[in-house]
Amino acid sequence: MALKILADFGIDNPRDVSIEDIIYALNIPLKYSKLTNCDGRIIHGDGKSLIVVNDNIGFETRRNFTLAHELGHYLMHRADLIQHLDDSASLAWFDTKNKTRISQQEIEANTFAAEILLPSHLFKEEVFKQPFDPGLIREISDKYNVSRSSVIYRFIEMGNHPICVFYSKDNKVNYWKRSQDFNFKIKECTRIPPPDDSVAAEFFGNGTIYPLNESKQEISKSTWLEVKEEYADDSFYEYCLVHSGTNLAISVIWED
Ligand SMILES: [Zn+2]
Repeated sequence: MALKILADFGIDNPRDVSIEDIIYALNIPLKYSKLTNCDGRIIHGDGKSLIVVNDNIGFETRRNFTLAHELGHYLMHRADLIQHLDDSASLAWFDTKNKTRISQQEIEANTFAAEILLPSHLFKEEVFKQPFDPGLIREISDKYNVSRSSVIYRFIEMGNHPICVFYSKDNKVNYWKRSQDFNFKIKECTRIPPPDDSVAAEFFGNGTIYPLNESKQEISKSTWLEVKEEYADDSFYEYCLVHSGTNLAISVIWED
């Protein structure tokens, strides 16, 4: 459906058009309003529907994603949409554990949003033969106006370089996810604080946030991984994407 919309409008690259313009061009009523505890929703009236998006979303990438998510609901689920408010739980499309708690409609709306903002075939072109690097993630994120975390999570599936991603909140590792070809044994670390010598631990412990040019930090192979002693000090890298407001750290680890 996302690719069909782009094709219908003759859009080869979604960078050229804003998602807002697509919504207007489809003649779908859109309104920005004050919403509490929620980023977006759809209001149904008598034969009419309205997309409402919170006018106070701080990040442009998040507003974009919300707009695209609601557009997905509008196009795919309007007739039988389960009434709901979209908040950070339903919009957390990358959280695989969360997927068991949110409905199929949410998964579909999130997949639609990811695909209309940055179609998979374009993403694959962007990362083709590219080693993982924080600069690459920022470049793609800026180019397509999508969040860095969403680029990281798609890199797990479609990147050409094995990575593992740990998602920690309030100084506890919630879950991790790795590329299929990330062939290392990961230490038992969920539901406990991130390892002492990790970059995530520096953030939770001292509030350390590295400047952009230092976002690739050297760690030891044994920081997050179960390795034989002889390899324990081998070089590994961690890029920690943090958000102080929500006390959240997303750590990507990889070998050069
Ligand atoms: Zn939704």
